[in-house]
Amino acid sequence: MSYVPPLSDLRFLLNSVFDLAPLQALFAEQGFDAALALALLEEAGRFCAETLEPLNLKGDEAGCRLENGQPVTPPGFAEAYRQYAENGWCALSGAPAYGGQGLPHTLQVLVDEMVSGANLSFSLFPGLTRGATEAISAHANDELKGVYLPKMLSGEWTGAMALTEAAAGTDLGLLRTRAEPLADGAYAITGTKIFISSGDHDFGGNIIHLVLARLPDAPAGVKGISLFLVPKFLPDGTGGLGARNGFSVGALEHKMGIHAQPTCVINYDGAKGWLVGTPHRGLAAMFTMMNAERLFVGIQGLGVAQAAYGKAAAYAKERLQGRPPAGGTGPAPIIEHPDVRRMLLTVRAFVEAGRALAIWVAMQIDISRHHAEEKSRQQAEKLVSLLTPVVKAAFTDFGFEGAVLAQQVFGGHGYIHEWGMEQLARDARITQIYEGTNGVQALDLVSRKLELDDGQVVRGFLAGVEAELAAIEGLEEITAPVRAAVAELRGLTDAVLARAADAAETGAASADYLRAFALVCFGWMWARMAAAAPGAEEAEIREAKPALARFFVTRMLPQAQALGAAVRSGAAPLVALPAALF
Ligand SMILES: Cc1cc2nc3c(=O)[nH]c(=O)nc-3n(C[C@H](O)[C@H](O)[C@H](O)COP(=O)(O)OP(=O)(O)OC[C@H]3O[C@@H](n4cnc5c(N)ncnc54)[C@H](O)[C@@H]3O)c2cc1C
Repeated sequence: MSYVPPLSDLRFLLNSVFDLAPLQALFAEQGFDAALALALLEEAGRFCAETLEPLNLKGDEAGCRLENGQPVTPPGFAEAYRQYAENGWCALSGAPAYGGQGLPHTLQVLVDEMVSGANLSFSLFPGLTRGATEAISAHANDELKGVYLPKMLSGEWTGAMALTEAAAGTDLGLLRTRAEPLADGAYAITGTKIFISSGDHDFGGNIIHLVLARLPDAPAGVKGISLFLVPKFLPDGTGGLGARNGFSVGALEHKMGIHAQPTCVINYDGAKGWLVGTPHRGLAAMFTMMNAERLFVGIQGLGVAQAAYGKAAAYAKERLQGRPPAGGTGPAPIIEHPDVRRMLLTVRAFVEAGRALAIWVAMQIDISRHHAEEKSRQQAEKLVSLLTPVVKAAFTDFGFEGAVLAQQVFGGHGYIHEWGMEQLARDARITQIYEGTNGVQALDLVSRKLELDDGQVVRGFLAGVEAELAAIEGLEEITAPVRAAVAELRGLTDAVLARAADAAETGAASADYLRAFALVCFGWMWARMAAAAPGAEEAEIREAKPALARFFVTRMLPQAQALGAAVRSGAAPLVALPAALF
């Protein structure tokens, strides 16, 4: 069963749900509009279905291997990346000054979803390269930008992010990699990083690591970390590759999924690197990359769920088992069984609301980067900041759950390798863990993001959602439960903020609060889509969207209430049991 790009839904979202006028104004020079976006998305969808997806199962089977210290990716991956770059996808949203096409991030996100759904292992190569270019653009000096950005945007060179060490994962303040100043202004980097995605590969070109390390005079903890650009090959000064730099791959990690992605242990032995940004302020600079990657990883979760849904829906229409519930002898296609429908609808209701929310957040990113007015840029940036942990954690939790539900639709065949469903479930699992675990995202939401501007950012966001819902006419059946859920979330937010000084309380509230928050956002998007559905060009969308919205508000949104009750119960039930009794 092949990958089917979600083009109908994309047409509906871009033509009927979202007003693209603000983006058209910001990207007038690039001639951006819905027609251009849809033409590019169709092209990307074709590449994903015809080139990336056929490599997915084979890549899982072949995996990566280490030959004389050199990671070798599965057959076809290097060539697929070459084509991806040649088609200009690496440059899509990059800065025109360095060879980028300067198109909206909103478009990028929709391409990312399809690439991730077609081949999650592959998606990390361009995803990490883009994150690295964003950090270099924001924090490196002009010389570094001039040498590295054009090559990375053209796809000749790729990027990697080197934070994690054996004893420093979530708590990067514990990291020990050292950076010693050299006479020429560069630094010698020494230490070992683990779990480095795309850390090395056989695509050719250069590999640019952004490495966190400590200068000799660094204070302890997160305030003593600096960021360095460390290439696999030193540039030769004419745009080519010079000497091999002093780092090597110690091992490839053996993993549950994403087998076609080389996840490396990297040993830096005095490798030459250049400081990016200010000494000791590296973590703040790295957050440019980490925030970009967090949103990207959320989109990965969405992409896998979309791919899994497409396969499961097609299978459920073909597979014959049991009597039709409405009567008759059968065997009936399993899509007729209500429980199979529950599974499919649960995945689809998440995927379509998630995609809409992803567009909303991405539009805020575009405004935060390109709007002429400082105030609008700042406001949008705060909203992105608030929603980043929600997108990362909720999209990957629902994404993994969606992949498992879609696998379940296949019954025993879902557990058998060649159908590809067990791979999707295995691959999706990492998205909940890397780029900051989902537990840590939830903590970020309750302990940092809710407190932005003394709670005014979250309150303003919820007030905006309420105003929009109140303005929708004639869809009470859908808007009334969503409005009630927003009101409940407002009260819950106040309750969480009131306990913000108590770390045990915020920690205990975090995961359930984030999930309730996400369900309310999905409800908001379902109300938007139901309201726009009558104007959809395609009859199938006009019929499906209101039915899905009703499913969501009756079968999924009520879960927010139960989560709210759990949040309100506080930390006591979690801290009662002494650690020794676990
Ligand atoms: C396949 C793969 C690819 C990866 N790619 C990269 C990469 O490219 N670059 C890179 O630098 N890293 C990468 N990582 C590392 C990844 O980001 C970390 O594994 C992850 O952030 C968690 O860190 P940890 O494994 O040390 O877990 P720990 O920090 O030990 O966490 C263990 C558990 O404790 C919880 N926990 C920890 N601290 C807290 C806290 N303060 N409050 C509440 N709960 C807490 C966590 O949520 C988790 O459930 C990758 C990892 C894998 C497996």
